[in-house]
Amino acid sequence: MIGGGFAGASCARALKRLAPRLAVTLVEQSASFTACPLSNGVIAGLRDLRDQEFTYDKLAGRGVELARLTATGVDPQARAVTLADGTRLAYDRLVVAPGIDIRWDAMPGYGEAAAEKMPHAWKAGAQTTLLRRQLEAMEDGGLVVISAPANPFRCPPGPYERASLIAYYLKTKKPKSKLIILDAKDAFSKQRLFQNAWKALYPNLEWVSLSSGGKVTSVDVAAMTLVTDFGRHKADVANVIPPQKAARIAEMAGVADRTGWCPIDPATFESKLQPNVHVVGDASIAGAMPKSAFSANAQAKVCAAAVVKLLAGGSPDEPKLINTCYSLVAPDYGISIVGVYRPADGQIKEVEGSTGVSALDAPSSTRALEATFANDWFKTITNEVFG
Ligand SMILES: Cc1cc2nc3c(=O)[nH]c(=O)nc-3n(C[C@H](O)[C@H](O)[C@H](O)COP(=O)(O)OP(=O)(O)OC[C@H]3O[C@@H](n4cnc5c(N)ncnc54)[C@H](O)[C@@H]3O)c2cc1C
Repeated sequence: MIGGGFAGASCARALKRLAPRLAVTLVEQSASFTACPLSNGVIAGLRDLRDQEFTYDKLAGRGVELARLTATGVDPQARAVTLADGTRLAYDRLVVAPGIDIRWDAMPGYGEAAAEKMPHAWKAGAQTTLLRRQLEAMEDGGLVVISAPANPFRCPPGPYERASLIAYYLKTKKPKSKLIILDAKDAFSKQRLFQNAWKALYPNLEWVSLSSGGKVTSVDVAAMTLVTDFGRHKADVANVIPPQKAARIAEMAGVADRTGWCPIDPATFESKLQPNVHVVGDASIAGAMPKSAFSANAQAKVCAAAVVKLLAGGSPDEPKLINTCYSLVAPDYGISIVGVYRPADGQIKEVEGSTGVSALDAPSSTRALEATFANDWFKTITNEVFG
């Protein structure tokens, strides 16, 4: 297993549960895991970053061998993974679950140095803290600009949850300030729910669609300016969420295609490009499934069951997968979207009629209940994966 995030750690754990005699090694470069879900609450000052951090100690106790190093190469022919210290690990089956990397070459002016002034905060940790500090330091009356990418990217509702919670912070602590979302899309997840809530709660939040000139084409970090085809926006705080791709090791393993993401068999998550290598989580092209921690966890369990069957010479069952994405619009205002998925025509497709979203006209008591569901879901999944 390469990568100990929601996908990789879930898969390692599921493999040991399904087949305790399998030797499972989890290669993870970080000493601990910092979770993205609810990290928008950290940015808004509602949570502590420490509430996002998890260790791998329990996983080790469940019989998973830990290799706390970066995987630097994969040789699919020899069936071996190379680690940063030169160690080679042989495998019968490899699961690649490394999450995403930022496409540093996708937006002129935006690179790793620029991210220190215009944070992406799309990998939780130091970037999350940086964006929080910038918001704290901003004077009342300032302008916050969020740039949201085109599809596909990690966590489709994430930029809009972030905008909502930053707007909540501004409304309660810096009410003269404004927030603009510059979007490279004309439509986004849970759009009507978000926009209805914004109209009611956050008059200082403006969303600029692709058609209205929202796509950021370059940034000028020195001038704190985001450039679109329609004009320039000078920000006091700029949160650039850039285009993304599967993390680098996927490309090195030969499982990423020209899109930068990894095509997979929808029943087993085996790579369409390399036999005996599976890809789960954000790095995979999972058809209609969004790139979420919920999806990553569901895919990991399906993949683990398939790997166990394949190693025993059997044929994997046809899976059904579920995803639920909660978003917080305010601390006591939650909304959600649910979908059920299955393999069809070589892809993962949504089961017809399975999508459900929160009602547009739900009372505030329902929104408050959904906010508690969001928090409960986080506790449940992190306990299941890392507990
Ligand atoms: C702001 C924000 C809010 C979000 N909110 C939600 C939410 O409410 N609900 C939800 O379901 N999802 C949410 N998500 C999405 C969720 O975080 C991702 O979909 C999920 O983390 C994907 O899991 P993964 O295992 O594929 O990747 P990750 O969780 O990123 O894990 C990948 C792991 O692989 C490791 N790794 C990478 N390369 C190597 C290598 N070469 N060697 C060793 N280790 C390596 C990394 O260190 C990392 O630990 C949110 C995301 C963001 C950014």
